[in-house]
Amino acid sequence: MSTLRLILGDQLNIQHSWFSPIERARSDVLYVLMELRSETDYAQHHAQKVLGIFAAMRGFATALQAAGCRVQYIKINDANNQQNFISNLIDLIKSEQITQLERQQADEYRLESQFLAAEAQLGVPVIVVDSEHFLADRVAISTQFSQKIPRMEFFYRALRKQYQILLDAEGQPIGGQWNFDQDNRKRWNGQPVAPAWPNYATDLSELWQEISAAGVKTIGQPQASTFPWPVTRSQAKHALATFIQNALPHFGAYQDAMSTASTTLFHAGLSFALNIKLLHPLEVIQAALLEYEAERVSLSTIEGFVRQILGWREFVRGVYWARMPQYGQLNALNHQGKLPSWYWDGSTKMNCAQHAITQSLETGYAHHIQRLMVTGNFALLAGIAPDEVDAWYLGIYVDAFEWVEMPNTRGMSQYADGGLLGSKPYSGSASYINKMSDYCKGCHYDAKQRHGEKACPFNSLYWHFHHRHAARLEKNPRLGMTYQTWKKMDGAEREATLAQAELYLGQLDHL
Ligand code: FAD
Ligand code: SF4
Repeated sequence: MSTLRLILGDQLNIQHSWFSPIERARSDVLYVLMELRSETDYAQHHAQKVLGIFAAMRGFATALQAAGCRVQYIKINDANNQQNFISNLIDLIKSEQITQLERQQADEYRLESQFLAAEAQLGVPVIVVDSEHFLADRVAISTQFSQKIPRMEFFYRALRKQYQILLDAEGQPIGGQWNFDQDNRKRWNGQPVAPAWPNYATDLSELWQEISAAGVKTIGQPQASTFPWPVTRSQAKHALATFIQNALPHFGAYQDAMSTASTTLFHAGLSFALNIKLLHPLEVIQAALLEYEAERVSLSTIEGFVRQILGWREFVRGVYWARMPQYGQLNALNHQGKLPSWYWDGSTKMNCAQHAITQSLETGYAHHIQRLMVTGNFALLAGIAPDEVDAWYLGIYVDAFEWVEMPNTRGMSQYADGGLLGSKPYSGSASYINKMSDYCKGCHYDAKQRHGEKACPFNSLYWHFHHRHAARLEKNPRLGMTYQTWKKMDGAEREATLAQAELYLGQLDHL
């Protein structure tokens, strides 16, 4: 009897019960990790994403070996690598005389369905176990969400109660309210100074040569000789500790701010480590809660931070698993446009988009508001097809895995799910971007103008979007003010605004 345990590249959870001291000592278990073209090629990924995942997988395999586990590691250029999970598994089952396969549930529908479809071909029993990472049970939320998706707020409150987080003795929210978003919307003017994230400066040049030699096509800069992201458990723990100490105290106040002076502001930079499971969400939340208990962090900040991880992260996963595969086809607004070419190189005169995209290509990172209110907002207003937008987001960020990328993109940012995830589209004109950032100061366009040669494209496109979707959106109570403003606008002004939008829509590649 010999068991093969398959570990996917985003299942690097050393705290999983597979790796308890008793399990590690088992000589009948072979742990297997594989670098595959089927994984590097299903989207065009950022170079740092491919590098980071492979480096973390290699480090994880080394750590398992050091702990006494039997490990088989298939590298991208190994001669016997068939470049997909199933063919490699069939080979290993034969060569290693495997009698049972064990795997953790895959987080992506794409992979889970591949494994389920291939089970019969493997010729051995397959046992599927939980990844022991998430805080909401996948089967329970898939069942709950498949009937009616609750608003995130209520889902989040239930998890706060389940995990007893920020509750008083009566089970009520500390501070008397569940949500402190209204305190968390400050513009940042350079003070307090935003800390730099730790850069691990790991030399991954050799690994990058291997990836290049394999012919993997990527986007963005690899930064291989001074690789910035955490790729081991100890680096990830250090990243968490650094965030908690340096940035968390100001996370809440400035979580919606954007700036040319700091790409990261007071954000955590932990999504990559979380998504490949070097960190557990509960350990991140607990580390942050200790700071609140020590009175080094305000209630509005801690609540805002917990909400992201316990609320949004778990919620989008629930939406994804309850509604796939149909979710990946949704296009409620029937948007069919092509993504402008400057999304791939940042060559636009719009300072906000230029900054967010250039930064993304350089670092594989943009924070939430850059993703939602700059690049996502523009694609929404310009009527770009959700498939195109999805492919871009799935490629460009180091933390992009479909279970979290797709609901955020298709649902939250493009409203392609017609409001399953959010109660209204996240649309904004230049006034929002101007209020929350310093982008407009140095821009070719004028944030105040709706039409004319220098008019900011976000303004006319914003009104064009609401005008063309009035039949669907006008009755939405959260958009009442928007439609009232539009209706009160002088007729000639409206005409000029719509004409300006049409002009811009005809030359999206040149904005
Ligand atoms: P912080 O702002 O410091 O937040 C802390 C943590 O909270 C994050 O590390 C993340 O784990 C979690 N979190 C915050 N917001 C969300 C959210 N909306 N959904 C899920 N988790 C959240 N996140 C990804 O992990 N992968 C993606 O591919 C991804 N694609 C996105 C696409 C779009 C269009 C948008 C609008 C958002 C996307 N997000 C994605 C969510 C969010 O932008 C990132 O999680 C966040 O920017 C990561 O940076 P950070 O670690 O500094 O996060
Ligand atoms: Fe962006 Fe418009 Fe401001 Fe320029 S003026 S930075 S395009 S919002």
